[in-house]
Amino acid sequence: MSMIPPGSTIGILGGGQLGRMTAMAAERLGYKALSYSPEADAIAGQVAPHRQGAYDDTAALARFAAEVDVITYEFENVPEGTVAACEKHKPVRPGVRPIHFAQHRLREKAFFRQAGLGTAAYQAIRSLADVAGATALPGILKTCTEGYDGKGQARVADKEELAEAWDRLGRPECILEALVDFECEISAIVARGLDGETRCFPIGLNDHRDGILRTTTVPSGLPTTILAEAERLGVQLANSLGLVGLVALEMFVTKDGRVLANEMAPRPHNSGHWTMDACATSQFEQLVRVICGLPLGAVDVLAPSRMENLIGDEAGDWLRFVSDPTARLHLYGKARARPGRKMGHVTYVLPVAGPSRT
Ligand code: AMP
Repeated sequence: MSMIPPGSTIGILGGGQLGRMTAMAAERLGYKALSYSPEADAIAGQVAPHRQGAYDDTAALARFAAEVDVITYEFENVPEGTVAACEKHKPVRPGVRPIHFAQHRLREKAFFRQAGLGTAAYQAIRSLADVAGATALPGILKTCTEGYDGKGQARVADKEELAEAWDRLGRPECILEALVDFECEISAIVARGLDGETRCFPIGLNDHRDGILRTTTVPSGLPTTILAEAERLGVQLANSLGLVGLVALEMFVTKDGRVLANEMAPRPHNSGHWTMDACATSQFEQLVRVICGLPLGAVDVLAPSRMENLIGDEAGDWLRFVSDPTARLHLYGKARARPGRKMGHVTYVLPVAGPSRT
């Protein structure tokens, strides 16, 4: 299988911050990047050329594909038809299969189980009869599609609350997951190459608030048995998907030491942003490497770090972050801060001991 060398062009479906940071990593290695999305003011378009087009505009997608050598996507809700349309012209890595599962929570959980990954107890909620027969309680009701960052979710204690919550969501197809009494949340980000070689970034310890990731800490300080199990599950998932690209697996560590799969994303992940400042290879560079058939990059931790998301108005504190010698600031170029909107992140990197400058 041939390598796609520097100088080639990487097409990115989606125009958000993940596309933006992928484009920046591509350009550092001498590639060109071109993003495609419906918005006129896509933030990926601030760092590399951008083509505006609808995800169902097959003619525009064909023109986009003609301009690039390989295509990836930066979010898992890109329609399957969009990926299929692009695949007629150029390789799309990681392809249709991962988003088929990642876009739909019931399909995703069933896939985890089939791939040998443990999950919380769950059941489908599609009818009043399902509500009446629910047993995964207390639990979290989640819409099967289009929920992210805690949206389309409700905690429910009993059947009465379940019925109310399902009504409030508009009675869409949902999954009810039993509440996991977890010790902590972690994630594995695994790269898988054209030849099937896999490499997992060091496991991140994640802290969520209101369903949104707030911080990721690496090293996590967790026992090596837990870390090894998390890595094993991430690699097993990547191999079961057979993907060429990255897959992030979010997991719960239960109080009795089990590791359960919660959610996957076949793309760079917010919990991997620390790699930009504190790992030998960033997750964005690793994506570029795998989709272009280059050797996988090293994943050594260069320094202990903690990534904090800047959500809504928090990015307004940018002067404080740029004044802090331990902080590496990343702002995404979004014009308007809205509550819950990810505006940037800051990674605190612990200085490595060295000769004193005084
Ligand atoms: P998700 O959108 O599935 O990633 O859920 C967002 C966050 O809600 C997770 O990171 C957890 O903090 C929490 N959560 C989701 N599902 C469960 C569950 N079954 N049990 C406990 N907490 C959960």
